[in-house]
Amino acid sequence: MAKLIISDLDVKGKKVLVRVDFNVPIKNGVIGNDNRIVAALPTINYIIEHDGKAILFSHLGRIKKEEDKKELSLRPVAERLAELLNKPVTFVPATRGAQLEDAINNMNDGDVLLVENTRFEDLDGKKESGNDPELGKYWASLGDVFVNDAFGTAHRSHASNVGISEAMKAEGKQAAAGYLLEKEIKFLGNAVDSPKHPFVAILGGAKVSDKIGVINHLLGKADKVIVGGGMTYTFYAAKGIKIGNSLVEKDKIELAKEIMEKAGDKLVLPVDNVCAKEFNNDAPSEVVEGDIPDGYMALDIGPKSVELFEDTLKDAKTVVWNGPMGVFEMSNFAKGTLEVGKFLGTLSDATTIVGGGDSTAAVQQLGVADKLTHISTGGGASLEYLEGKTLPGIAAVSDK
Ligand code: AMP
Repeated sequence: MAKLIISDLDVKGKKVLVRVDFNVPIKNGVIGNDNRIVAALPTINYIIEHDGKAILFSHLGRIKKEEDKKELSLRPVAERLAELLNKPVTFVPATRGAQLEDAINNMNDGDVLLVENTRFEDLDGKKESGNDPELGKYWASLGDVFVNDAFGTAHRSHASNVGISEAMKAEGKQAAAGYLLEKEIKFLGNAVDSPKHPFVAILGGAKVSDKIGVINHLLGKADKVIVGGGMTYTFYAAKGIKIGNSLVEKDKIELAKEIMEKAGDKLVLPVDNVCAKEFNNDAPSEVVEGDIPDGYMALDIGPKSVELFEDTLKDAKTVVWNGPMGVFEMSNFAKGTLEVGKFLGTLSDATTIVGGGDSTAAVQQLGVADKLTHISTGGGASLEYLEGKTLPGIAAVSDK
């Protein structure tokens, strides 16, 4: 069922409650990276240009004790947003009460207001993160319509996304997806549910246990599933290949065997690895094919694996990538991840989608991000989407 989107709404003169993802890194009041604020601008600008009143909600970090509030106020975000929009943004240092209600009642059409960090409500019994129904209902009462544009939290049921949506709908009001959420649903949804073939998935990262849901779901959808990174060596162990001191989940070896049986030649594993004796960027390393000798650990995929992966990818029409091919944080073991990212940038005929912190960092570092079709803004959320799970934040949006 298609979801209602912001451009379906008439927002003129309306109080539009918007859940954005302004969970940006802030240190001593200075914003480290404003990508997420920039990503929310199309939705906010739509409301301004169509004479609505934009009332923005976001979480920032985790609030466990009263002192956390000082470091995790959204005030610096309001200031940055005002610069980006080139217009004033009213910041309300409260998440409920007369101050917030008065500020909303004083808004003119086209005005923008940012509510304080929704997780300030977590101090009093996890009302935000636990989706307290009274809180969702209260926030919903402040507006005429709701827009969810926070993909990064769409896999969580919180008061500020699911709670508001449900309360709005219960009152006969609408809950729509913003432009960012719409884009994520479109690209991730099309890639997984109606991909152009050949469809190749590249899955990396540390643990089989974290990615098992994605591997299983994509094996049912993709033509090939390339596996790299730390989880490779649990598969090696399952195949009887020696792994030395490489990362392994012993309790997942049986599971890896089952996956390999089910997958047949769909599953593509590295054939060589860059190995070292220590988990250290300066440790001398060598490329090893097949068995990894005792005392060595595999920290990156080797050149023959890169070639094999490129060969598997070269005719692909859809590619989804999540997770690094090695210990990407150490420059001497980042090559496999960077080579894969670089190659994706050359696949001009394919829809190429990247999700997850490390793979996104790799394509950004390489400067190929703009050659790819879509870079997902949500790590955990994109992973759950690729697992075929229903994301509560999306499910709660009204159907068309
Ligand atoms: P994930 O969060 O599951 O995507 O995993 C990312 C982490 O996996 C990164 O911190 C990498 O350093 C780590 N990783 C990737 N390959 C290896 C490897 N061969 N050995 C140990 N850790 C690895």
